[in-house]
Amino acid sequence: MTQHDLTLIHSEADSAIEVLDLKHMIDGAWVASASGEVFDRHSPATGQLISRAARGGVAEAEAAIEAARKAFDDGRWSDVPGSERAKLLNEVADLIDKNRARIAFYETMESGKPIAQAEAEIEGAANIWRYGATLAWNIRGDSQNALGPDMLGMVLKEPIGVVSIITPWNFPFLIVSQKLPFALAAGCTAVIKPSEMTSATTVMLGELLIEAGLPTGVANIVLGFGDPVGAVMTTHASVDMVSFTGSTGVGKAIVAATSGSLKKVSLELGGKNPQVIFPDADLDEAADAIVFGVYFNAGECCNSGSRIIVHKDVAEVLTEKVVDLSKKVPFGDPLNRDTKVGAIISADHKAKIDGYVKEAEAAGAKVRLGGDDLSVEGLTEQFYQPTVVDGVTANMAIAQEEVFGPVLAVLTFDTFEEAIALANGASYGLSAGVWSENVHTCLAFARRVEAGTVWTNTWMDGFPELPFGGVKESGLGRELGPNGLEEFLESKTVQMRLGKSRQKWV
Ligand code: NAD
Repeated sequence: MTQHDLTLIHSEADSAIEVLDLKHMIDGAWVASASGEVFDRHSPATGQLISRAARGGVAEAEAAIEAARKAFDDGRWSDVPGSERAKLLNEVADLIDKNRARIAFYETMESGKPIAQAEAEIEGAANIWRYGATLAWNIRGDSQNALGPDMLGMVLKEPIGVVSIITPWNFPFLIVSQKLPFALAAGCTAVIKPSEMTSATTVMLGELLIEAGLPTGVANIVLGFGDPVGAVMTTHASVDMVSFTGSTGVGKAIVAATSGSLKKVSLELGGKNPQVIFPDADLDEAADAIVFGVYFNAGECCNSGSRIIVHKDVAEVLTEKVVDLSKKVPFGDPLNRDTKVGAIISADHKAKIDGYVKEAEAAGAKVRLGGDDLSVEGLTEQFYQPTVVDGVTANMAIAQEEVFGPVLAVLTFDTFEEAIALANGASYGLSAGVWSENVHTCLAFARRVEAGTVWTNTWMDGFPELPFGGVKESGLGRELGPNGLEEFLESKTVQMRLGKSRQKWV
């Protein structure tokens, strides 16, 4: 196959761009690093310089944690009534809407994702802030009124304290918006570290938090790398909780790092998400959702539907449909509004994606489409072809590990039990999907599959109201929905004796 069979969108972009000078936000002030060090981010599509960020060190991470600790301990935020916290979260949502175009532009320029998708993500993020505001009104504990006439039991819900929020590069603004509004709704204070590859839009969020009137020190941002900024944020004694989204490898390192101080940890990690297609499925609907699931965000998505497990009777016809549709998906210039798949985040990452494909091919799998770099006229940096690999077996790395690229692995099955065994046969457990016109099959699958989210006859719908997270090596805890708030609350049990009814011990 040559890339001429594909749908490609060339660059017509105007190369003029305002290069951003990004600083840390610590205790309400924008500051450079004491060391004077900076790091650059170039567009993964064009190679242009997009931002130059202050490179945080131990000093900046510690200063931010101290500011968040002081802001929590003096009650400047946790004492604010929930209704007032909600007002501020709604104000932030409105400001996000007002600034959507600028945020989306820099999200696209740093991550390589298509501009229309970035705009939809920023719009979705604003709505998560609004949903968080509804939870701020509703922080309620419990009471136990049947302990006898002289006792009342109460369970108070209190903010957990200072939270370290660490985010990845694939959905920078959306993911910080899955954490921070819930932490703030609960009354927590925070230190945030975006990925070193996508710092810009988290800094923009910081500007909006200040504009909305969030008290100084309640949210702080430190730019930089896992070492040393992330390491300080996960080990410092003044941090009460770490909320992390990223790779399973780093998630495990964070669990080890936090064990010294036994902080609470919540983890949103990787996935190897299966979609199982039964012979009675609507194959056209399934094929479209499979193509969406694997190419959305260039496959750089924790929810990537990167392996399908299809019944042998329909495997060939479905694979043909997927290959045909794949050729029609517009890959190319992220700034073109018609583009659906943009650039790959880095050259190293593209090499890793290609390595999985080549390894599978060497092990006997067949590359039905793609399997190579993509060149887009007018754009100098890294793109990868839509790729479909069939004849994949469960023991291949491409069936077990996150490829994090536009690469679909096709496996086949005969019986329901075999399908379940294959679906549950990876160490991950983030999401899963089932395609069948029989509701009994869908329900049986939903009950048996090991995953935090199950989609039946659809893929990757998402709502702020519904919890999201993984089982097994895909994570700990849940974001969004009422659980999103609960994660940032501690329960305190209060037992009140009425009168002098306590039996003397001595
Ligand atoms: P990553 O784990 O390499 O980095 C994530 C963040 O952790 C970055 O900010 C990085 O600087 C920081 N970090 C690195 N080492 C650290 C350390 N030792 N201590 C503290 N922080 C450290 O992940 P990535 O490559 O940026 O993102 C891709 C990964 O994120 C994929 O595995 C993907 O599945 C996962 N992800 C999961 C979800 C989800 O909700 N489950 C969502 C998006 C992405």
